[in-house]
Amino acid sequence: MGISHQNGKVSSKLRYLRAFCPIPSMDICERLSSLLNSAAVSPRLLIVLAHPDDEVLAVGGRLERMAGSQFLCVTDGARLDGNDARDHGFPGLSEYRAARRRELLRAFELAGLDGNLCARMLNLKGNLGRQVSDRRAALQLAEITESLTREIQEFTPEAVLTHPYEGGHPDHDACSFAVHAAIRLLSSKVPLIEAPLYHAGREGMEMGVFLPGGPPASIALLSKLQQHHKHERLACFVSQSQTLGLFGAEMEQYRMAPHYNFIEPPHAGLLFYEGFRWGISGQGFCELAKAALADLGLPRADA
Ligand SMILES: [Zn+2]
Repeated sequence: MGISHQNGKVSSKLRYLRAFCPIPSMDICERLSSLLNSAAVSPRLLIVLAHPDDEVLAVGGRLERMAGSQFLCVTDGARLDGNDARDHGFPGLSEYRAARRRELLRAFELAGLDGNLCARMLNLKGNLGRQVSDRRAALQLAEITESLTREIQEFTPEAVLTHPYEGGHPDHDACSFAVHAAIRLLSSKVPLIEAPLYHAGREGMEMGVFLPGGPPASIALLSKLQQHHKHERLACFVSQSQTLGLFGAEMEQYRMAPHYNFIEPPHAGLLFYEGFRWGISGQGFCELAKAALADLGLPRADA
């Protein structure tokens, strides 16, 4: 596995200094990128992503090194209308929901982790067992945010990892909004980092890279073995194989999350999810974000 950085390679002097000096929170992204390259220990992360499989796309090549982190899945990955369940040959929504959970547990098992201990679905308001359905997160922004404040307070992570605001999937953007808003509500200083999944590019879907601009990224170039592990783990998600087959496994990257203004679309032009009939536009998402900020009592700009 090779490590590079958009601003240049990590110097040997810097590596020497790190061996003897406490690592500041600014280096969380590089610590994450350099996992498996040395005896480096993973930061204790609260990883808040939208769907079962997003965690393997984000950190799947080094999943086995993350036993001390908690993975929180904001949605159950199953659409309420049951269409996905039917399309994948399941008799009903609950069977499809359960299958997606099993796929996730199997991916963790391959990495030597017990998913029952380190991977959970987000329960809304007081662990009442209410969960968020696929493509519904944008409709429950304030509720998800309030639930996340509790999760952050209880787990006290070293850093929180979530999606960037990139217009790839409304659930991803909702997750990003909720994490940013939860940290603001708590006035927390916990570092917030992000990993890209996909968004609209010049020639269709762009995967695994950030939108242009923003803070520099730390890039982990995965070894052949890590790429093999990542492909094996992605293959656990049989129900999602059509989509996941499009993703490469050569690298994973992270950066400190910038401040986003969620009441404006993440970029100009058509957002990736606006190319589908998913019942939500980028402008519609921004309206929901505006309403949620008001509900949460947060100033509108710069969520
Ligand atoms: Zn996703």
